[in-house]
Amino acid sequence: MLKGKVSVVTGSTSGIGLGIAEALAGAGSHVMLNGFGDASEIEKIRNEMEKRHQVKVRFSGANMMNPEEITGMIHETEQQLGSVDILVNNAGIQHVAPTDEFPVEKWDAIIAINLSAAFHTIRAVLPGMKAKKWGRIINIASAHGLVASPYKPAYVAAKHGVVGLTKVVALEIAEVHITCNAICPGYVLTQLVENQIEDQAKAHKIGRDAVVREVILARQPNKEFVKLEDLAQMAIFLASDAAAAINGAALPIDGGWTAQ
Ligand code: NAD
Repeated sequence: MLKGKVSVVTGSTSGIGLGIAEALAGAGSHVMLNGFGDASEIEKIRNEMEKRHQVKVRFSGANMMNPEEITGMIHETEQQLGSVDILVNNAGIQHVAPTDEFPVEKWDAIIAINLSAAFHTIRAVLPGMKAKKWGRIINIASAHGLVASPYKPAYVAAKHGVVGLTKVVALEIAEVHITCNAICPGYVLTQLVENQIEDQAKAHKIGRDAVVREVILARQPNKEFVKLEDLAQMAIFLASDAAAAINGAALPIDGGWTAQ
């Protein structure tokens, strides 16, 4: 479906980003992976994805906190793979603490990685997409881009910011066959959430199962984690020609969380 297209997925060495990168490669797109992790494990992921799907898969270790490295990754992709047709802004981190105790350096890092990085990637890919008169920008926001929870000031601010950025870009590029949308997942069982389960278990002095049901999934009405494949399939759909008229949307995939 996406044969010959080129995708960049930020934060794709694990979790949601890796799931989306895998699905894009499976749909025929060449992929630029990005993120942190053990170099030999990343090379294994890259090599296996390339062989499994018969597409070109490259890796950039660009730090999403650094605007120059971000722009460099986009230019590297254009040089190595020919263009950037599909951009998935996914890299993200979390920190949970009351606002008056929230560490300033955590605020700065979350705003930089979860919000500003998307501005820098979008800014860098738009000239190439406009020249080709085709492009897909998919921002992985969160249910926390639509509603708030206590103790997540930076994350909720950044994700609301991503939804706002999505709408602005959508309006600017609507006439040139580029779309910009946000996916707003509820809880997905990735390392980012595993860390929160551990912290909450310690804070509440309760076991893992109780944390998952009573704390993590408390507001997710179906009481189930969102599956990686469900997010990946939405990303593939948004990247397809069938989704050409979906623009500026913030699409919840959250088991009903934000219906409340
Ligand atoms: P994860 O921790 O499994 O993956 C995060 C990825 O980002 C990793 O590849 C990591 O290496 C990369 N990364 C972190 N800091 C980086 C940096 N400075 N530069 C480059 N890469 C960096 O987390 P995940 O749960 O897969 O989260 C992915 C995205 O989905 C995040 O934006 C997160 O906010 C969002 N999200 C997650 C959930 C959830 O429940 N897991 C729900 C809603 C939204």
